[in-house]
Amino acid sequence: MRPAQSQATESPAAEPPTPGVEVIDVHTHYVPHGWPDLGPDTPTARFETEAEVMIMLAGREFRRVASDCWDAEIRLADMDADGVARQVVSPTPVFFSYAHDVAQATKIAHILNDLALEICAPAPGRLLPMCQVPLQDPDAACAELERCLAAGHVGVEIGNHVGDHDLDNEGVVTFLQHAAALGAPVFVHPWDMPTSPRLDRWMAQWLVGMPSETHLSILAMILGGVFDRVDEGLRICFAHGGGSFAFWLGRLGNAWHRRGDVIGTSELHPEHYLGRFYVDSVVFDAGALRLLVDTIGADRVVVGSDYPYPLGERPAGSVVHAADFLDAATRARLLAGNARDFLGLAGPTAAPATAPAAAGAGLVEGLG
Ligand SMILES: [Zn+2]
Repeated sequence: MRPAQSQATESPAAEPPTPGVEVIDVHTHYVPHGWPDLGPDTPTARFETEAEVMIMLAGREFRRVASDCWDAEIRLADMDADGVARQVVSPTPVFFSYAHDVAQATKIAHILNDLALEICAPAPGRLLPMCQVPLQDPDAACAELERCLAAGHVGVEIGNHVGDHDLDNEGVVTFLQHAAALGAPVFVHPWDMPTSPRLDRWMAQWLVGMPSETHLSILAMILGGVFDRVDEGLRICFAHGGGSFAFWLGRLGNAWHRRGDVIGTSELHPEHYLGRFYVDSVVFDAGALRLLVDTIGADRVVVGSDYPYPLGERPAGSVVHAADFLDAATRARLLAGNARDFLGLAGPTAAPATAPAAAGAGLVEGLG
């Protein structure tokens, strides 16, 4: 039995999809069923069963993944069960390869990005691939992004740092500027979390490390002056509700006033930059979602699920469907309208087979 299917049918938190409103899930991942030799220090596949692959890193087990990572038919069935019209299908960060030499990282991106197109090919318009790029080299990253947009990718997923360089690194800023010029949405995912004996238990790298990493990345965008430098048209979204950023925005603001000698490095107060970025909704808690809506903005929160991984939300969008503080128009924005803005999509898609979305499609249409 696939874990994802089991969760979908047994989760006590499952809520029925909001009638009449389509759902766009901007945060899902793929892994190809197999991939060629990517060179030294890269993931390899150990085939467990027809439906399971163990991703191996340096001879050690990294993660067991199942056919919902690569099989469009299974993904579409899960989407129909959850009432999801479209999934953005992004790389799994272990393949980013930012520490490799540029030629090898470019080759890896090329291979994975083409495999992503194959995975999404059975459902154009419903499975929307995002590419990866060799972010350690802005020229190579820009070239691969252009190649992928021409080939059918809808945007790019990037890791939240390149080694010791954060998003305010000049090369990364050059890439973000190029993405803005191309109108390509950028999805930022935490990865490559610090390790230590204190962080290597209880999934602490995922439970504490990832939210901290994303918090730091948004700080880098603000205090590192990236929002001051890049075009305001840049559409950028941070995974996992933007990590711990929203909860600690007050602390940031206080520090900006009280210790401006150290952190007053942006042109304007940090709160000024709210409205420049999106966050996803995979926070599992109505209070946390409310904080995001109140802080980041009702027009800046999009559904993300982290499908098909165990720390993801099933059914996708549950916390948004169930949030009783949202009025119908705001809920529709979170479920799809904001994602259409982020992705640059024109209008609603055809409804998924099992969701009663067709009758209400017009409701969402006016909100995009
Ligand atoms: Zn994810």
